[in-house]
Formats: sequence, structure tokens, C-alpha cells
Amino acid sequence: RSYGTEGAGGLSERTLIAVKPDGVQRRLVGQIIQRFEKRGFKLVGLKMLKAPEELLSQHYHDLSKKPFYPSLLRYMGSGPLVVMVWEGYNVVSTSRKMVGDTNPAEAPPGSIRGDFSIHISRNVVHASDSLDGAQREIQLWFNCKELTDWDCHDQSSTFHL
Ligand code: UDP
Ligand code: MG
Repeated sequence: RSYGTEGAGGLSERTLIAVKPDGVQRRLVGQIIQRFEKRGFKLVGLKMLKAPEELLSQHYHDLSKKPFYPSLLRYMGSGPLVVMVWEGYNVVSTSRKMVGDTNPAEAPPGSIRGDFSIHISRNVVHASDSLDGAQREIQLWFNCKELTDWDCHDQSSTFHL
């Protein structure tokens, strides 16, 4: 498996999560990672970068006609992002719930956006919105060598390595 998002019944789904520049600047990286770890998902890719405009325009290509698109690209390019790939059962859909609605005013308390943000133009975090979207975004942001498959130490198959 290279970028593998599919998986039997979502068993080994993967999704792209990014802490946006406001989240990094507000020192929220640790708390956001902690929520995915606590939930039980597995981190298989992680990097920090200041994204070039070309990459951001590919990432948000479906929004290019929206009035907020130019300011969205300026915001996303205004500082470093922390981009991650998380793996686990149903991770695409569950992580969207953990992140909350696009507009923080609608995002329920307890969700990342609902706990850490107030305005749609500064909503702290990105999460892929579908299996196909996740696959596309993971390939866009990560080289397959940057993704690391690993087994948990409590699995018997790892006991006698
Ligand atoms: N966005 C915005 N104004 C809007 C809608 C969206 O600034 O009216 C920004 C916001 O940062 C959002 C991103 O554009 O997270 C991508 O929009 P999308 O509809 O894909 O929302 P998401 O998938 O991030 O919840
Ligand atoms: Mg989206």
C-alpha cells in the first residue's frame, strides 16, 4: 500500500489533517495532535512547512471561484502549517466531526473549531472531507516515502523482533 485510504470497511483509512497558520501561531499544535492520539488514531506522517502558493492553489482548486479564495490563499500562506496523515477506522468521517463545522460559530463546543476559534476565516485546522479528497490531498502534500507504516508494541506479532 502506498497512500492507501480505502481499506476494508474503512479499517485502514487515512486522512489529511493540517494545523493552519493561526493554529501554529497560537501554539495549538500539541493540543490538536493530542486529540487525534487520544481518540485512538495513528500518526503516519507529519511535517511543518510554509506552503508555496502553487501547492495551496492545488489543495483548494475546487474553491478557486469563491469570493474568499484570494484571502484564503493569503491566510494559508501567511505562516507555517503542520500537515499530518492520520490512519484508522473511519478516520475521514470521524475527524470531520472532531474538527467541527467550517464556520466556528456553528461548530459544537468540544470540537476543535468549536473550542479554539470564532471566525470562519481563522478556523485553525483542515481535515479532508471525503475518501477521494483524502487520497488526493495525501498525494499532494506527501511523498510516499514520507509516510511511515508501523505496528503497535502490544501486538503479539511485534513481541520477538
Ligand atoms: N472559508 C472562508 N470563508 C468561507 C468559507 C470557507 O474563509 O465562507 C475558508 C475556511 O478557512 C475553510 C476553507 O476556506 O476552512 C475551506 O473551505 P471548505 O468549504 O472546504 O471548508 P472545510 O472543509 O475546511 O470545513
Ligand atoms: Mg474542505
